[in-house]
Amino acid sequence: MIQDIAPHKLDNSYARQQAEKEHMAFTFKDGKILLHKDKEGNLTLPVLGQLPGSFETYEEKALYAFSVDQEPMFLILPHDLEEGQTDLEYHDLRDLYGVSPVWAALAGVTASHLNHWYLEHLFCGCCGSPAKLGKWERAMVCPQCKNIQYPRISPVIMAAVTDGDRLLVTRYAGRPYKGLALIAGFVEIGESLEGALRREVMEEVGLEVENLQYFGSQPWGFSDSVISGFFADLSGSSQVRLDREELSEAVWLHRDEIPKQNNGISITAAMIEAFRTGKF
Ligand SMILES: [Zn+2]
Repeated sequence: MIQDIAPHKLDNSYARQQAEKEHMAFTFKDGKILLHKDKEGNLTLPVLGQLPGSFETYEEKALYAFSVDQEPMFLILPHDLEEGQTDLEYHDLRDLYGVSPVWAALAGVTASHLNHWYLEHLFCGCCGSPAKLGKWERAMVCPQCKNIQYPRISPVIMAAVTDGDRLLVTRYAGRPYKGLALIAGFVEIGESLEGALRREVMEEVGLEVENLQYFGSQPWGFSDSVISGFFADLSGSSQVRLDREELSEAVWLHRDEIPKQNNGISITAAMIEAFRTGKF
């Protein structure tokens, strides 16, 4: 999964560090990330010194994001870079899959989550005053009313619904991702993870489930969320009633009919592969 970068380690503890030219830089525009393309066409995360214009332009604006293997990385706010160089281009976040090193996808997507949060919290949500960066912790603090806003992480559940040797797989309606998916949704206020899972399965495919078994979790900065994955046994009828607003398809596949999943990034693929290979 995206977080499996061992022996490397992403250290998300908060610090206020000074940016240097050789430090890696994350900058985003319209949900896309700026990447550097070398002469062979390989994509990499750029360093501050590679950004167009003078380094001094960025030095003040660079926000320390986190470190990977003690290498500090910075976020540039706001998005006011000109695309002045042909070796720098904005790319879809999914283009980070396969970018070297192995932690590039986790770092880039986590930086995107942070970027989104900072941009939404430049002003206090209580009194509307301009907020300031926290001194000691990752937070936006209001100098007027002292309101503190912390990074928002939304819980999501994912359900692999099984009926013996069959797994219910879905495809999303109206989204770029066309591969196999599982039922997923945000946890609503006042709900447990289990309650959210039962509700989502009922809403999306009209099925009842029992015997929930925890599989694992995954940070998913694409949707500012953390996903908790569960296997769940079908209880009652296997007749699917599809929510066509959310899904374009939901079908039962036997273990033998499931194609090998090898993207190595998503918990969806990890869960489908675990079922295909008989681990669940
Ligand atoms: Zn305030």
